[in-house]
Amino acid sequence: MNFKEIAKYLDRIEITTGRIEMINILTELYKRMEDADDAAMLSYIILGEIHPPYKGFEIGMSEKLITKAIAFASGYDSNEVEKRLNILGDIGKVAEEFISKKRQKTLFTEELTLRKIYNTFSKITLTTGEGSIDMKIKHLTGLLVNASPLEARYIARLADGNMRLGVADMTILEALANVKGGREYKPILETAYNKHPDIGEIAKVLYSKGWDGIKNIDITPGIPLRPMLAERVRSPEEAWEKLKGKLAAEFKYDGERMQIHILRDNRVMIFSRRLENITHQFPDVIEIVKKHIKLEEGVIEGEAIAFDPDTGEFKPFQELMRRKRKHDVHETAKLIPVTLRLFDLIYDGESYLEKPFPIRRKKLEEVVSENELIKVSELIYPETLEELKKFFFMSVEQGFEGLMIKSTGPDSIYQAGARGWLWIKLKRDYRVELTDTLDLVVVGALYGRGRKAGSLSSYLMAVYDPKDDTYKTVCKVGTGFKDEDIVEMNRLLKPFIRDRKPARVVSHLEPDVWIEPAIVLEITASEITLSPIHTCAYDLIEKNVGLALRFPRFTGRYRLDKSPEDATTEKEVMDMYHKQKKVIMES
Ligand code: ATP
Repeated sequence: MNFKEIAKYLDRIEITTGRIEMINILTELYKRMEDADDAAMLSYIILGEIHPPYKGFEIGMSEKLITKAIAFASGYDSNEVEKRLNILGDIGKVAEEFISKKRQKTLFTEELTLRKIYNTFSKITLTTGEGSIDMKIKHLTGLLVNASPLEARYIARLADGNMRLGVADMTILEALANVKGGREYKPILETAYNKHPDIGEIAKVLYSKGWDGIKNIDITPGIPLRPMLAERVRSPEEAWEKLKGKLAAEFKYDGERMQIHILRDNRVMIFSRRLENITHQFPDVIEIVKKHIKLEEGVIEGEAIAFDPDTGEFKPFQELMRRKRKHDVHETAKLIPVTLRLFDLIYDGESYLEKPFPIRRKKLEEVVSENELIKVSELIYPETLEELKKFFFMSVEQGFEGLMIKSTGPDSIYQAGARGWLWIKLKRDYRVELTDTLDLVVVGALYGRGRKAGSLSSYLMAVYDPKDDTYKTVCKVGTGFKDEDIVEMNRLLKPFIRDRKPARVVSHLEPDVWIEPAIVLEITASEITLSPIHTCAYDLIEKNVGLALRFPRFTGRYRLDKSPEDATTEKEVMDMYHKQKKVIMES
């Protein structure tokens, strides 16, 4: 399909402020895809990618390079282009403007197709080494010379890796389901996507092999699956009741989740909670896994925790995050060593997804030979509530976050990509006070006054609603940010600033600037209250009111390991509100 047509759809998607309309436009666009390859290429491009993120090939050309390509293609000086970029702040709009007034008229222009755009960017991502910068600029210039102003907008944004459309992977799945059957088919696509989170591949299989092809998609070592997540409770009693006493309890370690893949060719790969390939950051973990896991092929999961090898003591999460900021990975592995606590086995040559937890755990225990750097998580199968309570108090006493409580029933499968009641977290702070931490998404920001004038210093925060794939506001937060945090926030938010409300954000408030959902922060609050101004749980508890956080405060913890869809959900906040009410009434 020619890209000019596609760009018109992208423009409509960008302008719309309603999610349903966005899905409708996307569906219309997908209906026009002629073959499976086109559907695949389109899916990547809409998300600002060329390959799925876990492959680690980012387009991400720097703004400087894109500016140069715009200058070459339009016949202006790159300083002029840069100046406009400083004013407009959107490389796409800058490209559009300069291409519309270009000085160099080309005699012959080549019509740009979707395939041409995809293939050229594919070359751009693969070009490395000497002379690669010039080659990248040349490729991009080649596209811009042949582009209409609107096409140039999206080509430049693709080069930047940020399409500013507000479309997420789940939005695309919904449009794909619409095209090939109807919205009720979305769960089938989600199940496949949870095991194989490659949006292009899913689109391709759907278009070429239909629903049978989608149902046959399974785990493949080397391709991360979306992790299983936990619901939360406030007390051991509640967990006991939920799982009818059929449960295992494990310490909840405060480290970084790792999905470890062992491949037949002896390679080991590590993926983060957000499915990024973090293999290169952890040469020490690779070595331990190679020595201590007896599997020719497999997928296991665990938590890596910073620790002191002299005392054997665990160190806080922040310590591990320090490791991420350093560059010499071998050096930092020595400075900040980690130890692994494994808690699941998902594949050993065959899929364990459908096997109950005790079977997965038993297999895990069989394949690990333990030492101080690698162990299975501390676990008990409590027979009484008293035993569970004792283990919980023990975990708190020993400085752990609390417990992960897991169903051991016949249905205790590994639910990739789902937050359900088969896993339950019981954190220590839920017991003692009403305050709770929530992981919220920034959807808007406001400029400060006085010393903070000119910088965005308070933030409109939202929960995620997976049902509608929308973000609903729950508080404004400006407390808890140190001066350096404000600087960091302004840096983090810059690429996501928008002048209109992103389509998936539901808000009654108008911030100074809108922010595309991307950045997750950990927030504490004194309590959850009813509020007419926030949209979280609006109309769900009482008519014309929603829920808001009272006295929200940033804990200092940036949850960059979470994507916006991993944020605390609307339902979780409602559950927390109901539980809080119960506690107040009981006390
Ligand atoms: P939180 O924000 O509480 O860290 P989360 O939202 O990142 O949690 P949840 O599913 O809510 O994810 O909680 C489970 C997380 O706890 C896992 O992602 C994992 O990183 C961590 N964890 C620590 N110990 C265990 C364990 N024994 N079993 C499973 N997960 C564990």
